[in-house]
Amino acid sequence: MPIYQYNCSDCAKKVDVFFRSVASAQNGTAKCPECGGTKLDRVMSTFARRKTTMQRLEDVDHVRDAAALQSNDPGSFAEWAKRTGKDWDEELGTNWEELAERVEAGEDPAERIDADYTFRYHVEEKKFQLEQAALGGGPANDDPFAEYFDRPATTP
Ligand SMILES: [Zn+2]
Repeated sequence: MPIYQYNCSDCAKKVDVFFRSVASAQNGTAKCPECGGTKLDRVMSTFARRKTTMQRLEDVDHVRDAAALQSNDPGSFAEWAKRTGKDWDEELGTNWEELAERVEAGEDPAERIDADYTFRYHVEEKKFQLEQAALGGGPANDDPFAEYFDRPATTP
């Protein structure tokens, strides 16, 4: 039975919410056990928060992404772009969230066609940058050993 932690905007408490299954946790609406409110923000688990950018890059599921992107359905693209933009726009310098908004507004941006390729490219480029930084090259914008040491992330 998965338990997720949320911040409730109604009663301003950090609460644990139980779900019957992972699927119901993903699809269902979380309800605050304290006040019954539904304005809940998922709190990232300690494990997820401590993952390095490199680990998150390694975890990108390109197969799943390709499935969403090759469906040729603007709705699937918007859903993908919104999620991916939230996770990556800031770090990769991409504009997926903006594209998602344009698609939702009825546009069909040309970028949608090669979004899969573009995303892979940015992911690989970022991995390369991090590897270089880890080798003592360019600016260290991520700490590849953060998972082993409890220290504040270095600022570039
Ligand atoms: Zn509440």
